[in-house]
Amino acid sequence: MNLILLGAPGAGKGTQAEVIVNHLSIPAISTGNIIRESLRNETELGLKAKKYIDEGALVPDEVVIAIIKERLLEDDCKNGFILDGFPRTVPQAEALDAMGVVIDKVIDIEVEDEKIISRLSGRRVCKDCSASYHIDYKPSKDGKTCDLCGAELICRKDDHPDTVLERLRVYHDQTEPLIKFYKDRGKLFVVHGQEKVEDTTKLTLAAIEE
Ligand code: ADP
Ligand code: ZN
Repeated sequence: MNLILLGAPGAGKGTQAEVIVNHLSIPAISTGNIIRESLRNETELGLKAKKYIDEGALVPDEVVIAIIKERLLEDDCKNGFILDGFPRTVPQAEALDAMGVVIDKVIDIEVEDEKIISRLSGRRVCKDCSASYHIDYKPSKDGKTCDLCGAELICRKDDHPDTVLERLRVYHDQTEPLIKFYKDRGKLFVVHGQEKVEDTTKLTLAAIEE
């Protein structure tokens, strides 16, 4: 099954992606994680992307399209995949069509802006493995280091309040049109994000089994 997870930054796409990975044994591909990894490794891509990410802007379409094109050719995508954070603009969705990629379902995780703001400002991520926590809703065991690998937890630069508002603005402006794009194609499944992750998970699993 080829899936897309759609939703505002901080809607919980990454968490739901992990659930589906375990359920369907297909890989999750996060353009955000791929870009942040290139930033850490200071590759050409990382250098190109840095200024956009830090400002809460989108990385140019041609850059992310090239990343996805290459990634989807890898062996582990043969039986399906979950795209987390791609497409984020209509041209990116059209690029998938042009690659001949057939999408089975698009799961749109809907969360109100106010909740997004509180979730992102309290989000902490592991500096090494990118595992994600929240100071109130999902603290790590000691509140300071990653439960999985022990590395330090940090606040992503683009989770600082001003940047969060800009990311939300960009989401409404550039990404939200994809809801109609996929609805018109009969692919859209809406999941209302719940207070508890487990409750959202149930809705997500119901949507992929529908
Ligand atoms: P979130 O969903 O929390 O905003 P991501 O980790 O998906 O975070 O993305 C972080 C940043 O990486 C985005 O703000 C953007 O700059 C860049 N990025 C990720 N995916 C894309 C994409 N498909 N198109 C353009 N930029 C992207
Ligand atoms: Zn870690």
